[in-house]
Amino acid sequence: MSRPIYLDCHATTPVDERVLRTMLPYFTEQFGNPASVTHLYGWEAEAAVKRAREGLAEAIGAVPEEIVFTSGATEANNLAIKGAAEAYLSKGRHIITVETEHNAVLDPCRYLQSLGFEITILPVQADGLLDLDQLEKAIRLDTVLVSVMAANNEIGVLQPLAAIGALCHRSNVLFHTDAAQAIGKIPLNVQTMQIDLMSLTAHKIYGPKGIGALYVRRRNPRVQLAAQLHGGGHERGRRSGTLYPPQIVGFAEAVRLGVREMEAESKRIRQLRDRLWQKLQTLEGIHLNGHPTQRLPGNLNLSIEGVDGQALLLGLQPFVAVSSGSACTSANIEPSHVLQALGRSPDLAYASIRFGIGRWNTPDEMDWVAERVIETVRSLRSTTAGSSFNFSGIESL
Ligand SMILES: *Cc1c(COP(=O)(O)O)cnc(C)c1O
Repeated sequence: MSRPIYLDCHATTPVDERVLRTMLPYFTEQFGNPASVTHLYGWEAEAAVKRAREGLAEAIGAVPEEIVFTSGATEANNLAIKGAAEAYLSKGRHIITVETEHNAVLDPCRYLQSLGFEITILPVQADGLLDLDQLEKAIRLDTVLVSVMAANNEIGVLQPLAAIGALCHRSNVLFHTDAAQAIGKIPLNVQTMQIDLMSLTAHKIYGPKGIGALYVRRRNPRVQLAAQLHGGGHERGRRSGTLYPPQIVGFAEAVRLGVREMEAESKRIRQLRDRLWQKLQTLEGIHLNGHPTQRLPGNLNLSIEGVDGQALLLGLQPFVAVSSGSACTSANIEPSHVLQALGRSPDLAYASIRFGIGRWNTPDEMDWVAERVIETVRSLRSTTAGSSFNFSGIESL
């Protein structure tokens, strides 16, 4: 039997063959430690890391010194939030974030709260967007950091980064954004968007797992960070640990390809997503979660009335790899905190399905998947027929 069609690109993506090819030499013959300064092996590795750092910086409008390599976006978020909180203690202990953030932002904030920091977690509107007036009102003199993600990992909603950046800079507050889902998919520029700290990861854009970066602004303002990993003083003392050249090279290549092919790919993937959505709308009682247009091209997140989300995923599992809510919390039986933040009832939050469409999906796959979903939903509904269920629009969004 063939493998399920992969539509879970918000959880992770396969490594692009072109990316893999750039990585391979650095596992074997060019295996040196970039910190070795006394021989060719070290110099080769150092040169590869330098080129990758330059490429990544260029892709986001930064300079190479502003890139700190990490093990991924989780670590980058921890370094940004805990590192800034610790470095700016004399300014204050107040941090602002948003209900729909990834747990890799919310949990470091909750941890800081347990240490005596004050955290404001702003709600979002029914379409998933942050209300800028609410953000402005929440900023105080002792606010150190505002953390708002670029693209949501469940509903794909894109927050207005440039407007948030402008507001933060006017208010003399640092702006951090978790751009794990956004890099290589939407244009990102730390200058025009006035971003001070930005978390990145490779494995959501056809790069390897276990590598990412934190962008740390060096001028206007120069961002201070307290290191969270101490050791050999790598990355200008901001993140110790031997650099991992194959992963770093692959990360930079994945970002380069993502940025280079963004325009055509976004258009193609958006068409696939819209095709799938159009077909699925033949089902009654189906709701789109998140803003209809202000979202990642490859994201489709739906709530389907009258089906149990787990039963739906189980029914689809031999044919389609999708998820409900976020993969990171799928062991958790709580309904998604993101869907609840949109005001979805727990029932509709449970009955959700997230499609993440990516580089190798095709129109035929969309048609086939739509049929499987429609079939599975109809069969699940028929087994619960006779219950008091009707589709008179339980919720309107
Ligand atoms: C995947 C993801 C993360 C975690 O990134 P890792 O590199 O896997 O640690 C953080 N934030 C968002 C929005 C994500 O999608």
